[in-house]
Amino acid sequence: MASALTWTPLGDSLWSATARPAPDTPPLDGDTTTDVAVVGGGYCGLSTALHLAETGARVTVLEAHEPGWGASGRNAGHCTPDWTYHAPDDIAAKFGPPYGERLNDFQAGAGASVFDLIRRHGIACDARQSGTISVVRRGNRAAMAACRAKAEQWQRRGKPVDLLGADAVAEAVGSDRFEAALLFREGGNLQPLDFARGLARAAMSAGASVHGHTAVTGITRDGGAWRLATDTGGVRAAAVLLATNAHRSGLWPGLDRSYYPVASVLGATAPLPETLHSRILPNGHSFAELGAGFFFFFDAAGRLVVGGGRGLGVNDTRDRAASWLGRRMNGAFPYLGPIAFTHYWGGWIDHSPHKLPGIHELAPGLYAAVGFSGRGVPTATAMGREIALFLTSGNRDSMAFPLTPLPRARFNRLGQWAAANIVIPLERLRSRTG
Ligand SMILES: Cc1cc2nc3c(=O)[nH]c(=O)nc-3n(C[C@H](O)[C@H](O)[C@H](O)COP(=O)(O)OP(=O)(O)OC[C@H]3O[C@@H](n4cnc5c(N)ncnc54)[C@H](O)[C@@H]3O)c2cc1C
Repeated sequence: MASALTWTPLGDSLWSATARPAPDTPPLDGDTTTDVAVVGGGYCGLSTALHLAETGARVTVLEAHEPGWGASGRNAGHCTPDWTYHAPDDIAAKFGPPYGERLNDFQAGAGASVFDLIRRHGIACDARQSGTISVVRRGNRAAMAACRAKAEQWQRRGKPVDLLGADAVAEAVGSDRFEAALLFREGGNLQPLDFARGLARAAMSAGASVHGHTAVTGITRDGGAWRLATDTGGVRAAAVLLATNAHRSGLWPGLDRSYYPVASVLGATAPLPETLHSRILPNGHSFAELGAGFFFFFDAAGRLVVGGGRGLGVNDTRDRAASWLGRRMNGAFPYLGPIAFTHYWGGWIDHSPHKLPGIHELAPGLYAAVGFSGRGVPTATAMGREIALFLTSGNRDSMAFPLTPLPRARFNRLGQWAAANIVIPLERLRSRTG
């Protein structure tokens, strides 16, 4: 299993082909001491580093490849301030006071906070806060009920979410196949790799050290601190954050088994004629179909970027995955005609047992943030701000998320094999008939 997690290289992605140049992040060279060491240069690690550095803390990021190499540089760029798998009332009931409503406020505000961060640091990443739309296919009664419930629950909390009826959806997405939709007005989209690189640049400008091509190979206790080993040097830190996502870091017992990695794939076309992208998503929304694991948007140059995961397994070939994505697109937008992908890539999503992220205390001064479950653009970025707040204040209760122990290891190799080879293929079968 572990070796399969490298899968398609970042270099195959549209984002890699179109991103602004990466900042210079030289490998660690020798030994150093810092206040906080962050392992992993994705949105979570980089946002934590940026927010910490802004308070004057010494912070060092160690990234095995380059900032954004993981899910943060290869995702679909949708920034949707909603829970992927939960309604706000479920969160309130599950966590109770005070965390339930704190979490709902956190998630509903996470989209706007990403765009504020981008503006504040002048990050060039084609960010458009043009709203995201989550649609319900006609006849999907379960998705329709979930859509109505979510709209009512977010609106009851005063959040900027609209429920659109069939006519409004047809106008917003250029297809009459949908019955209703949720419109998240504060959501939007961005070029994911540019955003990750921009976060790295902003963190370094604020005083953080960011080292690429520096894989952490071990963590040991060193008096009252922690020592991180790499091939080119060591870091001694009072506190450590593991922000390694679904990448099987092997750094702490049980961490890699606290989630299961699910493959998600994306394809991108050449820029499409203006007549098409002004008919489909004329307002620049990002599109996701509720209950279908299928999503797309048009990037700044008018390329169709389409992705999914539910119908695909880890061993799917490029042709099969591209044909699945094309079929889903043509099912809703038959006037698009044959879709030719110029880029095709994939990555891994870390699904936690409850499909919610968590901040876990592994040992005194050693923390991990994992389980973003497919919503990391807003959530992992905003989580970084929360972790920085906690690490600087020392107040365990300062975050929207409770600080919890690592969930009991559930996903052993057999469980992960079953997710990849049984659950996902079953979803594929279902999606063919759906
Ligand atoms: C194909 C795809 C599409 C997605 N689409 C969306 C979307 O549209 N919207 C959305 O909100 N979310 C989406 N997601 C999810 C989102 O991208 C992630 O939740 C988010 O990027 C997670 O950020 P992160 O910082 O936790 O992890 P990552 O960005 O994965 O960063 C972890 C980093 O840790 C590094 N690392 C691991 N082990 C070590 C080590 N031992 N030493 C040093 N470094 C190490 C890795 O190299 C990696 O760069 C998508 C994910 C995928 C894969």
